[in-house]
Amino acid sequence: MDPAETPPPAIRICDVVKRYAGAKGVEGKLALKGVSFDVPQGGIFGLLGPNGAGKSTLINILAGLVTKTEGSAEIWGFDIDRNRRNAKRAIGIVPQEIVFDPFFTPYEVLENQAGFYGIPKNQRRSEELLAAVHLSDKRDAYARTLSGGMKRRLLIAKAMVHSPPILVLDEPTAGVDVELRRQLWELVGSLNAEGVTIVLTTHYLEEAEQLCDNIAIINHGELIANKPTRELVDMAREKIVEVTLDAPIDTAPQDAAFGKVELLDPRRVAITYDKDRITAGQVLNRLQEQGMRIEDVITREADLEDVFVSLTSAVTTGGDQAKETAR
Ligand code: ADP
Ligand code: MG
Repeated sequence: MDPAETPPPAIRICDVVKRYAGAKGVEGKLALKGVSFDVPQGGIFGLLGPNGAGKSTLINILAGLVTKTEGSAEIWGFDIDRNRRNAKRAIGIVPQEIVFDPFFTPYEVLENQAGFYGIPKNQRRSEELLAAVHLSDKRDAYARTLSGGMKRRLLIAKAMVHSPPILVLDEPTAGVDVELRRQLWELVGSLNAEGVTIVLTTHYLEEAEQLCDNIAIINHGELIANKPTRELVDMAREKIVEVTLDAPIDTAPQDAAFGKVELLDPRRVAITYDKDRITAGQVLNRLQEQGMRIEDVITREADLEDVFVSLTSAVTTGGDQAKETAR
């Protein structure tokens, strides 16, 4: 093997299936249908998908909180079944739900966690971690008196107590206000700059687009995309031009070079086109050739949201759900 090749992945997921136990006589929910992907070292990796897609199930399998039905996974090269201890030491996980013992102080929460990992007193980083998450002044306050944002930051510090090379955050910004979201991203960015591989799940497209180097999209327990963010956005080659006409029309204009054409109202029409095939100017020319006079024009780039919608709708039209409910 050439040592200059890409380093081994931070996380490797192979054909992971999860079927939750169902009620008596009823087959349980198939939350993951055989998912495989690698998380490269060093970046910020986004696991994107709508609610119920299976993101937390996958994270909880890595955390050892949920047992997979089939498949295998490695964390930092350690198999999560055969080498549970080392796998666990290589990862810090911030769960989706905030749970704390309300009577511990932030300092105690971190010290207890360090004790749990068997870290000797002189090697603990509690003060340093509190400073990193801007909670030094809350060192001795009861956890129950902290705001939601402070609790989330404390959870991040807690996940970093054993200095893992990988930090996983499950929906860190769900239900979080704009200012706190900004603070969280700063914190995640600075940890990443120090070399920590970050994995985060989110159902916010914009967030994934702005933060992540690579994005995997999961929908109904299946991986439907896994690409560098730039490539994923490039898949959105379609553009949309919205035209206001000087007189009403009753049928949408037709042209072989147009994609979807939608009559928004009798004087407004939205035309989707592939920007590799035709330009906005040519679209307008074709309309004028058909005798239409144009009063106003807006063009819009397709963004990650458009890619997401086209990818997820392609998959949900399959018969999977029907099959499952028909049982
Ligand atoms: P996400 O985090 O992407 O929103 P989840 O992994 O939480 O999705 O859930 C995936 C699917 O598995 C959902 O249909 C959910 O209802 C189901 N599910 C999650 N946890 C359990 C559980 N403990 N028992 C049964 N079904 C579950
Ligand atoms: Mg979830």
